[in-house]
Amino acid sequence: MIDLKSLTIEKAHEAMNSKEYTARELVGEYLKAIEERNRELNVFLEVFDDVLIQADRADKKFQDGTATLMTGIPVAIKDNILFSGHTVSAGSKILENYKATYDAFVIKKLKDVGAIIIGRTNMDEFAMGVSTENSAYGVTKNPHDINRVPGGSSGGSTAAIAINGALVALGSDTGGSCRQPAAFCGVVGFKPTYGSVSRHGLISMGSSLDVIGSIGKNVADVEILFNTIRGLNDMDSTSISENFFEKRVNKKIIIGIPRDILQTGVDERILTNFNETIKKLEKFGCEIKDIELPYVKYTVPSYYIVTPAEVSANMSRYDGIKYGQSLEGENLRDVYMKSRGVGFGVEVRRRILIGTYVLSHGYYDAYYNKATLIRDLIKNDFKKAFEKVDLILTPTTTGPAFKIGEKVSDPVKMYLEDIFTAPANMTGLPAISVPSGFVEEDGKQLPLGIQFIAPHGREELLFDIGKKFEKIRAN
Ligand code: GLN
Repeated sequence: MIDLKSLTIEKAHEAMNSKEYTARELVGEYLKAIEERNRELNVFLEVFDDVLIQADRADKKFQDGTATLMTGIPVAIKDNILFSGHTVSAGSKILENYKATYDAFVIKKLKDVGAIIIGRTNMDEFAMGVSTENSAYGVTKNPHDINRVPGGSSGGSTAAIAINGALVALGSDTGGSCRQPAAFCGVVGFKPTYGSVSRHGLISMGSSLDVIGSIGKNVADVEILFNTIRGLNDMDSTSISENFFEKRVNKKIIIGIPRDILQTGVDERILTNFNETIKKLEKFGCEIKDIELPYVKYTVPSYYIVTPAEVSANMSRYDGIKYGQSLEGENLRDVYMKSRGVGFGVEVRRRILIGTYVLSHGYYDAYYNKATLIRDLIKNDFKKAFEKVDLILTPTTTGPAFKIGEKVSDPVKMYLEDIFTAPANMTGLPAISVPSGFVEEDGKQLPLGIQFIAPHGREELLFDIGKKFEKIRAN
């Protein structure tokens, strides 16, 4: 029996390297954990049938001395990342049974080092949502309380870590989709600088915000996964070179607290946990400074114009001809209408409508252009703040995991979930959510998370403070 609960990438690597167990044995333990909980929780949409073949390939690497840290490590992937020859549905009916025709850049990277891609995880359809309730394949249940959502849209990937269904997982983060579900599931969720991980082979949602993020039980594992998948890619003109990133970390850390965005609609228990976190960081020697981010309160309204605009463009390729499901119709237009009408769920259709509207002649200036201008003002707020502080701290979410069904009838309530996470996407900044404690509700311990945001290319600062915070919390 391998203790998966306390297993880290480094420990697993050492154990496989010293022949304590093989990659095949290790992945076998993860498959057992999935078997135990997946039926109840709906975390994995599919466990890949070539897992053991991948494990044998990894074991060969250990035998011939070419193994590296990630060799043989089981990785779960969100269902919007292309793994050649395997189904990828983006949580949508329109791509049901669609098979990827090539490997995403991140998958190539994982294959190069012999990581094991164990399965694809549930998600909100095309990554639109905060609860996985928008998945065409049913909601994922929160492992801490099965009556609650795991967060979203990468709720399957974060729940996979919480049930030890994989050692690390990939998600995508357009407005908070790695960090918010990480907070709800009690794991670490990391969104890197926009462009640091190539989007090539990630099914697009909002192309100017999308980035592939890393999820794990602890900051060190997340850092290793990020370092494995990052890098410049000729196939993605938005990907950035590693030279852009600063390795330096600060001895004395100055943390900014944006009190102005903490004022509306935040659960008291979140604020208490947040204030306790600040005290702990202060005691540890961090300097705490109040800062102002006056335009950040307009993030959600502007995000929900910019993103649907990009969504409406990105969804146009699913026409029933090029990809996935095609329904018969009287003529081509009819085929489009029927395939899209049946294939897309309510939230995707809502965003296509909003997006098409805000881009249409006469409304473009009033909505899309204005939202873009606000986006610049938000960027400027952060730029100014980072002249005074090294990092910015916020809660990750406005409350603990909410109940399944609680918000489905009110999309605005869902959108407001993104208050703390979407600013990092609108600005391209890196951010990490780290577990910060629990609250008790209905006799269950529900996890909470806090978020650190860093300047562009300063992910080292996030890993540094994240690891320190894990220790401070434990003591
Ligand atoms: N909740 C946000 C949305 O629905 C973010 C989703 C994401 O990051 N993919 O747009």
